[in-house]
Amino acid sequence: MSYVDDVIAKVTKENPGEPEFHQTLNEVLNSLRVVVEQNEEEYRRDALLERLANPERQIKFRVPWVDDNGQVQVNTGYRVQFNSAIGPYKGGLRFHPSVNIGIIKFLGFEQIFKNSLTGLPIGGGKGGSNFDPKGKSDREVMAFCQSFMNELYRHIGQDIDVPAGDIGVGAREVGYLYGQYKRLTGQYEGVLTGKGLSFGGSLARTEATGYGLLYFTNEMLKANGESFEGKTVTVSGAGNVAIYAIEKAYELGAKPVTASDSTGWVYDPEGIDLALLKDVKEVRRGRMSDYAAERSSAEYHEGRGVWQIEADVALPCATQNELGIEDAKQLVANNTFAVAEGANMPTTLEATKYLQDNGVLFGPAKAANAGGVAVSALEMSQNSERLSWTFDEVDTMLKRIMKDIFTKLDTTSAKYDAEKDYVLGANVAGFERVVDAMQTQGIV
Ligand code: GLU
Repeated sequence: MSYVDDVIAKVTKENPGEPEFHQTLNEVLNSLRVVVEQNEEEYRRDALLERLANPERQIKFRVPWVDDNGQVQVNTGYRVQFNSAIGPYKGGLRFHPSVNIGIIKFLGFEQIFKNSLTGLPIGGGKGGSNFDPKGKSDREVMAFCQSFMNELYRHIGQDIDVPAGDIGVGAREVGYLYGQYKRLTGQYEGVLTGKGLSFGGSLARTEATGYGLLYFTNEMLKANGESFEGKTVTVSGAGNVAIYAIEKAYELGAKPVTASDSTGWVYDPEGIDLALLKDVKEVRRGRMSDYAAERSSAEYHEGRGVWQIEADVALPCATQNELGIEDAKQLVANNTFAVAEGANMPTTLEATKYLQDNGVLFGPAKAANAGGVAVSALEMSQNSERLSWTFDEVDTMLKRIMKDIFTKLDTTSAKYDAEKDYVLGANVAGFERVVDAMQTQGIV
């Protein structure tokens, strides 16, 4: 068996019951064959892929907190410190009932390559809890965040591990987490990113993932003789990524016509009303049905279904495995010519292959949604120099970073005779930098 096959088999066996982690492991290692085959003996001797696929450290802890009825609740907290070859561990925290160790490992593994592609000095990590912030009072969310930090604080630091937000963790949660870290350690340091602007947050961090997705996709379209001008775009999700993807899509001359949340989705043929969507989701913490009730042009549907709407470009911005093979077939039948991932791993392996085989331009998450973590790294830089940059300064850097990422994917895929295979380009380009650092630093 080849070294890649050996490692996939071994790591899968040693980590049972973690299907999402197995999925990303398969995707990444399969694309790396082209590089691994050239260095097979050396990598095997150095157990390079085993070291890459095994987190440096994984922390699991109990999070007890008291709800508004005086009942004690217990959740599980995680932090996976996956790889620190190119910088301190960096990656978000996800609070969602679906969170388990396999989900955090899939996200942490992706983060290694994503962070590498930004060109910035950040290693890969991820964390979270099966806590569900939905329907909880502010006091309950604070109680949970404080208890979560009571354990996490001993494992993190501005030069050690710098968490941020992800699904279920936004400005409110980061604020409570930061306050508790400061209380426990007495340190005022840039230990979290996505902070409020009054205490070390960066301008444009809120917009960064959505804007970055559109900057990346725009580069991908340009390189293939296309543009967003006058195009119809379908978007899934209605969180931070989706909202700012919709905002930037309008700025680039496109018409975004859908949005969704965990209970339903909206088709708005006149284009999503961005101000209303922001009010419903960011201010009222409401549902897509609230949006539809206030917008006469919108159709509301229960469940999932945005990919059946005809569009030129599809941007999955909700969650993992939300775009499966049937959706991919529908997109191809509708002549959608580009798909770019705003969420982490929203497309299944089978669907990705089908889209690529049918000539759909495919921008993988670890490149397309790297704008969020890139601006997090810029927030770390601003905290280190005790300065704040303007919105335009950060946005200009974000644009340049996303353009550079696309160029890396394009040149890397061409170098390995896999032109326009941006999945291979992202995995190989991300890997090359991390491996160079790992090999140079010895067996650690
Ligand atoms: N959760 C985001 C991601 O998936 C951002 C992480 C960060 O800013 O550290 O990349």
